[in-house]
Amino acid sequence: MQSAPSFMPATPKPVYSRICEVASYRTMPLLLADIIDVLEHMAPPSLAEAWDHVGLQIGDPHRRVDSVWVALDPGPDVVAAACGSQADLLITHHPLFFRPLQRIETDTALGTVIEQAVRHRLAIYCLHTNLDAAADGLNDMLAHRLGLRRLRPLIPPGGATDRHHPGIGRVGTLARAMCLSDLAQQVKQRLGAAAVRMAGDPALRVKKVALVTGSGGSAVGGFLSTDADAFISGDLRYHEVRDIEYARRGVLDVGHFHSEHLMVDAIAQRLRRIFGRRHPPVRVQACSLEKDPFTVV
Ligand SMILES: [Zn+2]
Repeated sequence: MQSAPSFMPATPKPVYSRICEVASYRTMPLLLADIIDVLEHMAPPSLAEAWDHVGLQIGDPHRRVDSVWVALDPGPDVVAAACGSQADLLITHHPLFFRPLQRIETDTALGTVIEQAVRHRLAIYCLHTNLDAAADGLNDMLAHRLGLRRLRPLIPPGGATDRHHPGIGRVGTLARAMCLSDLAQQVKQRLGAAAVRMAGDPALRVKKVALVTGSGGSAVGGFLSTDADAFISGDLRYHEVRDIEYARRGVLDVGHFHSEHLMVDAIAQRLRRIFGRRHPPVRVQACSLEKDPFTVV
């Protein structure tokens, strides 16, 4: 998991070679299809969960892209701002479309987003559970942010784990053991969260940590089958937390937003490294508008 980024393989692959070739043509317009090639190499759609809908949500792959935004959610404010700045592509973590639409009502939030994106020719592309699972994907980003080492998947995919099918969640080791309450303070500070929720003995010694970005409740059983001391995730439910408490382990619920928002800067930086040297340069903007919808009162 800590090897070279998946979009920089040791042995050049045909797709990546073609992408580098395109990127090096400084006067050649960059098409949405070229960026999709890079994104799909970074987070292969085949890694997405069966229920998920990743990839291009709105847009024409043949259209030229000069300006890219990256955000967590394709919400109305984000899409309005991206359109206002003449962005050509908005890359988000969460999909715009989860369920099939029967109609597009432009007096709803979703309808407004669709109407604005189409009117301003803003393409929307989503990297969701495929980014969660990918090598150097969102779970690895969170693990690195929290200082975990010697990472392995929490729940390996059916067969053998490899860098292209690394599985769900991560288990890693802290540089030094600490008590659960100190870990909570450290995690809160590293994620810039106003608060994290903690359960378990505050004095519990924690050395090994498992984590799942987003909503990790379904992975609690997987965590309990490991020897990790504490579990970090978001959106955890009462009985899931009780199960962890009864097992004498620790748990930190950092909130869905704070477990995932770090993808915005990370993906923007990767794209700047790949496309930033072109002339004219492709502008890549990490959206700074998003906040955790929850406040602590
Ligand atoms: Zn999420």
